[in-house]
Amino acid sequence: VTIGVVKESRAGERRVALVPKLVERLVRGRPGKLRVVVEPGAGAAAMVPDELYEKAGAELGDPWGADIVLKVAKPSDDEIAKLAHGTVLIGFLDPLSSKDTVAKLADAGVVAFAVESIPRISRAQAMDALSSQSSVAGYRAVLLAASRLPRFFPMLTTAAGTVPPAKVLVLGAGVAGLQALATAKRLGAQPTGYDVRPEVADQVRSVGAQFLELGIDATGEGGYARELTDEERAEQQRRLTEAITRFDAVITTALVPGRRAPTLVTADAVRGMPPGGVVVDLAGESGGNCELTVPGQDVVAHDVTISAPSNLAAEMPAHASELYARNLTELVELLVDDEGALALDFSDEIVAGACVAGGQKGDG
Ligand code: NAD
Repeated sequence: VTIGVVKESRAGERRVALVPKLVERLVRGRPGKLRVVVEPGAGAAAMVPDELYEKAGAELGDPWGADIVLKVAKPSDDEIAKLAHGTVLIGFLDPLSSKDTVAKLADAGVVAFAVESIPRISRAQAMDALSSQSSVAGYRAVLLAASRLPRFFPMLTTAAGTVPPAKVLVLGAGVAGLQALATAKRLGAQPTGYDVRPEVADQVRSVGAQFLELGIDATGEGGYARELTDEERAEQQRRLTEAITRFDAVITTALVPGRRAPTLVTADAVRGMPPGGVVVDLAGESGGNCELTVPGQDVVAHDVTISAPSNLAAEMPAHASELYARNLTELVELLVDDEGALALDFSDEIVAGACVAGGQKGDG
């Protein structure tokens, strides 16, 4: 097969779907039977020059005619038009919210695999792009909060006096949240984590943070949270509004797959925060966890800065791309046999689960 690596077109997307180290692994793994074609400049924004791809065994050229096209962001209409019938496309296709993209891919006869739909079973852990990119986002969110806060994160004892550590609250202790807690701890802040899945309390404590207990259990299917009932939501908002006033920085990461993100930080909570406080909302693209969030922007309200960066993983493109490329390579190796031919086995739960268009069981 031929594998195509495209230059991303979405504004602000600096990641690339494959890096030279993994080009080498793919090409070496099936000598003479697998080609990688990289669009010139595909890696430039991730600090990967074309020459390094060539050195690793890739060719520069038009990637859109490849048998397997690797992408980061979901394709635009123009990009879908470049895909031939039968092409395998892999990327963040946002299948739960971007139903029109998935329908267009199906109409075009594209066999589309969404990395978000890879089942979260242990065999698929190395393919888990949601986790790898969430780790990057969680880490960056804390750096952003620290740089916006007009105070130190760590405790300092100096001749000019003692500074107490910043108090950081992380709402949602999934992959991004746990990385945010661990990063805040490394920077010397006093981190506290909160989640509606009580099982994460031990994980929160294991990174050196406290767990905020509000007595709500909303464990849902597949390790994810379910949406709260109206009563639970009201109770949660009331108790969080009270708790948030004690924190200098709040980082929110709470998501429910396929739903609008829950509102956890009300306008009243923001008003109660200390002047100079910071909220970094990682759920901006899904509607935001803070009532005052404007996706993609920084707003200041009641002397508190609310930042909702739209694609934090793309702001650290070198490592984000490396991890993502490893995730994709693992999936590609499952879709290609030892002879380098496409071998889509829809009886495999990973293949069947990730396929959102053009698969054997219809379109999703
Ligand atoms: P996510 O990004 O979908 O959500 C982030 C967090 O927000 C979750 O922890 C969720 O419980 C929380 N949340 C949702 N609604 C909330 C609310 N109203 N209030 C507070 N918190 C709320 O989740 P994720 O980080 O992708 O992962 C969720 C879990 O999936 C992980 O913690 C893990 O247990 C599991 N997981 C399993 C694997 C695997 O087995 N391969 C890999 C990754 C994650």
